[in-house]
Amino acid sequence: MDGNKLDWNALERDLVAWRRDLHKYPESAWTEFRTSSLVARRLEKLGYGLTVGLDTVELSAVMGRPPRSEIDAHIQRAIRQGGDAEWIDKMREYPGVVAALKTGRPGPVVSIRFDMDCVDVDETKLPSHRPNEEGFASVNDLLMHACGHDAHTAMGLGLAAVLTAKQDDLKGEIRLIFQPGEEGCRGAYAMTQKGVVDGSDYFLAMHIGGGVPSGVFGLNSLGYLCTAKFDVEFTGRTAHAAGAPHEGHNALLAAAAAALSLHGIAPHRDGSLRVNVGVLSAGTGRNVIPGKAFMKAETRGQTQKIADYVYERAQKILQGAAAMYETEVTVVKTGAGTDAAGDAPLVAKAGEAIRETGLFREVLETVQGGGSEDATWMMRRVQELGGQATYLALGSNIAAPHHNGCFDIDESSMILGVKALAAIVGKLSQ
Ligand SMILES: [Zn+2]
Ligand SMILES: [Zn+2]
Repeated sequence: MDGNKLDWNALERDLVAWRRDLHKYPESAWTEFRTSSLVARRLEKLGYGLTVGLDTVELSAVMGRPPRSEIDAHIQRAIRQGGDAEWIDKMREYPGVVAALKTGRPGPVVSIRFDMDCVDVDETKLPSHRPNEEGFASVNDLLMHACGHDAHTAMGLGLAAVLTAKQDDLKGEIRLIFQPGEEGCRGAYAMTQKGVVDGSDYFLAMHIGGGVPSGVFGLNSLGYLCTAKFDVEFTGRTAHAAGAPHEGHNALLAAAAAALSLHGIAPHRDGSLRVNVGVLSAGTGRNVIPGKAFMKAETRGQTQKIADYVYERAQKILQGAAAMYETEVTVVKTGAGTDAAGDAPLVAKAGEAIRETGLFREVLETVQGGGSEDATWMMRRVQELGGQATYLALGSNIAAPHHNGCFDIDESSMILGVKALAAIVGKLSQ
């Protein structure tokens, strides 16, 4: 099929169908087995060379994966809900797909990242919410594509089809990276450490929505905060609350003291920082000195230096609070993201490509990205190795903020996203 003969209307219908299918069966970080298997099956048919699952991650760098004992249940659900059992088997308990289109002609390596995971939030039951109205709301409790990664995955599949159709016009290699676990910044680091972006001359990532309206495209998203996510466990000693309180070592009080102190970390002269203790649980009974306490916390900083500062202070507070109550503390890092900025020459080329399409009423040089984003590890790695990277923003009118149970996208943005990426890839691999 020649690029000019692509049936864009059919592709647009496919994008909506894929997105709605993924929306109905959301999977959270490190459990995207159904999603990955359907991606792999489709891309294999299109002729891409595939690396999947365990072969796409560095095990020692995996963060925030559910316990091994839970993985099988996720795999069984994925198969029940229409996943491809053969591909899931090949993944060996780790989701993720890296697909390469090698043109056979000398030229640059262009890598593009698509994230696949959902958010841990319950989708609204409101009848007016379109996924309810049109029958594609999440069927998995407490899981929802409330960030638009269903659309990202669908656009990755769409781009794969366009590139195959246009491959006679392309040079070098195009690598499509379908990443697990972006939420909580859990997946990109392990893939980066495995080398999935190594050798890339150019790297692109793109997010839908994010406060940018439909018809607008951003070339360089900035301002992602560097972050660390961590689980904390305090272990003390239980005792009778009245009979022998002096024999107890109170883990609840250690955790509570730590929580208050963490939120009191001094600001930094050089920029902003954030701390949040999002979960705190402790104790077993009213008349028992609590022997265990559990905390989920995160720190963020405007630069890596500030993020390191607030993380290190946090560790001292945890140690100090543990010592104060004669408890033990263990900390497990469950996620991390850094900062990154687009390279001017790549941003300029992308801008040229986007303007030539005439698809967008407005093209923004920079966009202020919110929160944190772990594709920054991939950007940083590519830049360190001498390549160029940028993080794109695809405008889409959203029904509610990201991570909200009423979130929904403007689906007509997806075909624009595919055309935009195809145009940029076309410009880079000339
Ligand atoms: Zn998100
Ligand atoms: Zn997101």
